[in-house]
Amino acid sequence: MNEVISEGFCIGCGNCEAHSPTCFSLEENKLGLIEAKLIDDATDILDLDKVCPVISEKSEDFFNQAYQSESLAYKKEIGFYRNVYAGFVNDEATRLESSSGGLTTHLIEELFERGLITGAIVVGASPESKSRTEYFIARSAKDLKQTKKSKYHMTSHSDIAKHILKSSDQESLAFVGIPCSVKAIKLLGEEHPEFKNKIKYTISVFCGHQKSHSFTEFVAWQMDISPPQLDSIDYRIKKTGGDASRYYYKATSEEAVAERRVDNLKWMDWGLGLFKPKACDFCDDVTGETADVIFGDAWSRKYSQDYRGTNLVITRTKEMDEILTSSHKRGLVNLFNEDASFVFATQGGNFRHRHEGLISRKVFYEKEGLWFPPKNQTRMARYSQNSSRNSYYLDRHKISQDSHEIFLKAKELNDLEHFWKTLTPQVSSYYKKSVGFSQKLKRLIKNILRRA
Ligand SMILES: Cc1cc2nc3c(=O)[nH]c(=O)nc-3n(C[C@H](O)[C@H](O)[C@H](O)COP(=O)(O)OP(=O)(O)OC[C@H]3O[C@@H](n4cnc5c(N)ncnc54)[C@H](O)[C@@H]3O)c2cc1C
Repeated sequence: MNEVISEGFCIGCGNCEAHSPTCFSLEENKLGLIEAKLIDDATDILDLDKVCPVISEKSEDFFNQAYQSESLAYKKEIGFYRNVYAGFVNDEATRLESSSGGLTTHLIEELFERGLITGAIVVGASPESKSRTEYFIARSAKDLKQTKKSKYHMTSHSDIAKHILKSSDQESLAFVGIPCSVKAIKLLGEEHPEFKNKIKYTISVFCGHQKSHSFTEFVAWQMDISPPQLDSIDYRIKKTGGDASRYYYKATSEEAVAERRVDNLKWMDWGLGLFKPKACDFCDDVTGETADVIFGDAWSRKYSQDYRGTNLVITRTKEMDEILTSSHKRGLVNLFNEDASFVFATQGGNFRHRHEGLISRKVFYEKEGLWFPPKNQTRMARYSQNSSRNSYYLDRHKISQDSHEIFLKAKELNDLEHFWKTLTPQVSSYYKKSVGFSQKLKRLIKNILRRA
C-alpha cells in the first residue's frame, strides 16, 4: 500500500478507507486526483493488500471464474460471458437523456420494478460541488434521473461502502461502476461476508480510463469558463444529426452557459490520455470481467450514425440476460444479437492500449527499475508486445503523466496558453509518429472546416 500511494498508483476507489477507516482517508489532491492518505497515527492497518484493487492477489480472473457455469462463451480478452448485444431504449426522450442507448438505467429500473433491489449504488453530481461526482444510493427509479450519462470524473465509493458496512439493514443492492470499482466492491465483499450478501448485482460501464478533476476544468476552460468560475458540467449532450461519438459538452458558471461539440474542443482524443491516473495505464480489464453485465458505446459504423446513441452490452448471468431480453419482447428496448467481433470492433483502441500497450509499459518500468503494481502473470500471458507501437505507447504514458503538473501550473498562472505551449512539442511529436497519412489528411480537413 505504501508503494501504491507513494508511487502514485492509487485509483481513489476508497476500499482502504471503507475497510480500515481509522487508517486512511480519501482526498482530492492538488492535481485533481482522488487518492488515499495514510492517517498519521494509524495503527490497525488490516490486510489492505487484500482489498486494494491495484495490488490484490485476487485478479479479475478470480471473479470472472464465477460466471463460468452460466456462460455460453469464453474469449481470452473478454473472459466468460453469455451474450453480446447492441441496443437502446425505445422511449425517445429517455434515450436522449442517456449517454449511449440508456440500457444501464433501464436495467436498474427493471430491478426496482421487479422488487429485486432495495437500492442502486450509482454516481451523480456531488451536491456540494456540482462539477464533482459522488456515489449515492438510489432508492427508486425516480432517483435515477440525476445519475444518467457518463461522468468523466474519478469517484470514490468509500462513504457509501462505510455506510453499508456499518448498517444492520437488510439490503439487496445493485452496484454500478467502472470495472476497477466493481472489482474493488467484490474484493471488499471477500473480506466482509455481510457486505457481499448485500451486493446482489454488479453492473459495469466500459472505461477507456478515468479522469482527474482537471479534465473537467480543462473542458470548461476551453469554453472560456475558468476553473474558479466553473459551477457544473454535462459531459454528454446529444444533438440531431451527425455521429453518436460527436456529442456536446456543456459547462455552466454563475454568469454563463457554454456548449461545444467534442471534436471542436482541442486534444479530446482519448488516446492522448490527458489527466489520466497512472493506475489506469496498468489496468487490463477492458470488458468489466468481474461484473454481471457491462454497457458501453456501440461506436461502430453500423450504429454510430444514429446520434441518439446505442449501447454495446455483454451479459454474464442468466438473470441479466433474461431481464434485458424480456424488455425487448415487451417492446421497451431494442436488442440486436452481436458477437465478440463486435466487442473488438467497438473497443479496438481500448484493447490495443490496455493489453498490447501494457506490455510496453511493463517492460519500460522494469528496465528503469521503477515500481509498478504486480500484474497477474496468467492474464499478462494473454498478450504480446508490438515493437512497432512500443514508443507510441510510451509517449502516450509520458504525455498523460506530464499533463497533471503542467495543468496545475497553468491554473497557478491563470493562463491556459501555458498548457498548450508546454505540452505541444510532446503531443506533436506523438502525432507525427502515430498518425498515418490518411488520418493526417482527415485531421487537416477537419481543422480547416473548424476554422471556416
Ligand atoms: C470514465 C468513463 C469512461 C468510459 N469509457 C468508455 C469507453 O472507452 N468505451 C465505451 O464503449 N464506453 C465507455 N464509457 C461508458 C459509456 O460512456 C456509457 O456510460 C455506457 O455506454 C452506458 O451508457 P447508458 O446510456 O446505458 O448509460 P445511462 O443510462 O446514461 O447511465 C449512466 C450510468 O453510468 C454510471 N456512471 C456515470 N459516470 C460514472 C463514473 N464516473 N463512475 C461510475 N459510474 C458512472 C451512472 O451511475 C449511471 O448508472 C465510459 C464511461 C465512463 C464513466
